[in-house]
Amino acid sequence: MAKEIKKIGVFTSGGDSPGMNAAIRSVVRTCAYLNLDCVGIYRGYQGMIEGDFKPMDARSVNNIINKGGTILKSARCDEFRTPEGRKKAHDQLVSEGIHALVVIGGNGSFAGALLFNEEFDFPVMGIPGTIDNDILGSSFTIGFDTAINTVVGAIDKIRDTASSHNRLFFIEVMGRDVGHIALNAGVGAGAEEILIPEQNLGLERLLDSLKRSKKSGKSSSIVIVAEGDRTGKNVFELKEYVEEHLPIYDVRVSVLGHMQRGGNPTCFDRVLASRMGVKAVESLLEGKSNYMVGIRDTQLILTPISEAIKAHTDIDEELIRVSDIMTT
Ligand code: ATP
Repeated sequence: MAKEIKKIGVFTSGGDSPGMNAAIRSVVRTCAYLNLDCVGIYRGYQGMIEGDFKPMDARSVNNIINKGGTILKSARCDEFRTPEGRKKAHDQLVSEGIHALVVIGGNGSFAGALLFNEEFDFPVMGIPGTIDNDILGSSFTIGFDTAINTVVGAIDKIRDTASSHNRLFFIEVMGRDVGHIALNAGVGAGAEEILIPEQNLGLERLLDSLKRSKKSGKSSSIVIVAEGDRTGKNVFELKEYVEEHLPIYDVRVSVLGHMQRGGNPTCFDRVLASRMGVKAVESLLEGKSNYMVGIRDTQLILTPISEAIKAHTDIDEELIRVSDIMTT
């Protein structure tokens, strides 16, 4: 029979995302509601290995639902990739009396949790916290909605200057492997072209589209470029390429960078995080382990972590079509 769970450890791992604090708060308050002890583990797997623990009660998470980043800090930890590192982490959890873990993070963090469970039969439950929205088993990850709203806000501001000066802007957004941020924010901000890792439309199409745009009388143009776009050129090389082939354009580049990770989470992310935290704790108490909480069609669902980490989510083809139509 599974050991009774009386104390749960919660931590954030990998890249931070807005809404992680709301998820921590939810896990801590659900534990308090159910009379379970809860322990915050600082700096992800690194803190687990070092025993960087702090007991948390309902009041420890006051006034954090609106804050970006993570109060528990996050880290990448190479030692946890080794059996020795994971053994140290297990020893620390046992000596603290922790019976189960809630990990808030991305694919890598889940892969680590799965291994840990296999080696020590330690109950784990995942909550997807990443701005990339790239995790199978959830239509939305915590932080994605905030990130696309941040990007749309930035593009709106850049458009003001682009249209005042009749300029073309290349705006680089996050997304090495997936183009969800680029596509959604690009459609939301009315970009002329969106270059994503999932498809290579070729430089010819880009030039054609920009020519068409100029001909149709547009006074400014915005092209969104995901970090991992497949044209083979980075955003600065794209600028040079276009200036060389279309000298009519005055081209500028803006790399949005880490501002996309920060800021106060949107209401959507706060609500999602609150729901997922409750589901994670309640599922552990039901004896479930090795699952990730996700959302599909407004319903919370559980997906085996082994499935969730198999691949990235596919790009939304329908949204690509919408984007094509909108740039007519
Ligand atoms: P993001 O999506 O923001 O990158 P992530 O959770 O995928 O978040 P990673 O850096 O890939 O971030 O992983 C976080 C940590 O999880 C790593 O630093 C490492 O400690 C642990 N980890 C990742 N992959 C493994 C693995 N295969 N085995 C053991 N531990 C792992």
